[in-house]
Amino acid sequence: MTTLQKAPTGEALVTLRGVQKHFGALHVLKDIELTVQRGEVVVVIGPSGSGKSTLCRTINRLEPIDEGAIEVDGQPLPQEGRELARLRSDVGMVFQSFNLFPHKTVLQNVTLGPVKVRRRKAEEAERRGRELLARVGVADQAEKYPAQLSGGQQQRVAIARALAMEPKVMLFDEPTSALDPEMVNEVLDVMTSLAREGMTMIVVTHEMGFARRAANRVVFMDAGRIVEEAPPEQFFTSPRSDRARDFLSKIL
Ligand code: ADP
Ligand code: MG
Repeated sequence: MTTLQKAPTGEALVTLRGVQKHFGALHVLKDIELTVQRGEVVVVIGPSGSGKSTLCRTINRLEPIDEGAIEVDGQPLPQEGRELARLRSDVGMVFQSFNLFPHKTVLQNVTLGPVKVRRRKAEEAERRGRELLARVGVADQAEKYPAQLSGGQQQRVAIARALAMEPKVMLFDEPTSALDPEMVNEVLDVMTSLAREGMTMIVVTHEMGFARRAANRVVFMDAGRIVEEAPPEQFFTSPRSDRARDFLSKIL
């Protein structure tokens, strides 16, 4: 099977070195080493509680790390301050719960960040916002409020909102887990076309069809460690570790 997207460039865009993270006595990320190339799509899978969400959250410093280093596009992520807000906007994030601003229209949800953080002019942000809403297939919902949209539409707006910040990499943490089944594909389709267009993506998901279709690499986590990484075809047909085999036997 071939992947649909452009080949990664071989240039490291996100690098984690020796990353350790504890919550109190709980060692949640254990010596994480991970490099994601520009244009690469990495799907992260693993049992509940294995540290997938924490991994995503450390990459844009929603969670501080105890040890190690994280770089995005060659720049270390500072712990705080103005520089952090700017660098954080290089990393777009889409969560399981859509997290749209409920009292803002769909269009305002997409233009707020560019105006406030990226200092874009209002008209420019609006023009670009409408383009992005069209790209994710919700152009006709621009003047509505999030609660008036279906879950699938809200998640597509959340993707457009993240893209509006012109991120270098997009993180998706189980973006379809909270959706009714009939809405899963409309969100995965948007993600697949992003992957095809060459967006660098780190995607936590249980959607193995998406992983097979769009991923360059699958990273399997268990108990805070990266246990195995491989191209999807290899991972799904011949996982090397017992833990990965056991996990796959439960979900496939
Ligand atoms: P996953 O996304 O793979 O299900 P998480 O990264 O959410 O895993 O969680 C990894 C472990 O860290 C779990 O044991 C979870 O209970 C714990 N954990 C996550 N967030 C916190 C937190 N803010 N405080 C304490 N423990 C946490
Ligand atoms: Mg999680």
